[in-house]
Amino acid sequence: MHEFSIATELVAAVVGEAERHGARRVERLECQCGAMRQIVPAMLIDAFELAAVDTLAEGAQLTVKTVPPTVRCRDCGAETQPTDWAVECPRCTSLNIAVEGGDELLLTSVTLEVDDER
Ligand SMILES: [Zn+2]
Repeated sequence: MHEFSIATELVAAVVGEAERHGARRVERLECQCGAMRQIVPAMLIDAFELAAVDTLAEGAQLTVKTVPPTVRCRDCGAETQPTDWAVECPRCTSLNIAVEGGDELLLTSVTLEVDDER
């Protein structure tokens, strides 16, 4: 299961962050993933909940944002974000296009619960 290995990576990243800040637990986190990775957000959230059991991230609320790739036309320079697999430039119908981005996986925000009675 593709989502589970990503969820494990997310848990490791966010737990590392929580430990560095001496947090009691992770409240919520947000990640951004490229549409090219073909991640199903609901599956990733389920996998995250499982992977986070018995860690500082247990019970944390995960938000997954899917980012579409950008298609750049080498002929007219148009940059578009197709909703489907792009085969041609929507502006000049050139087939000379390059797909950029869409395969990233970023942890964009983490909210930690820090014990301030220290
Ligand atoms: Zn074009």
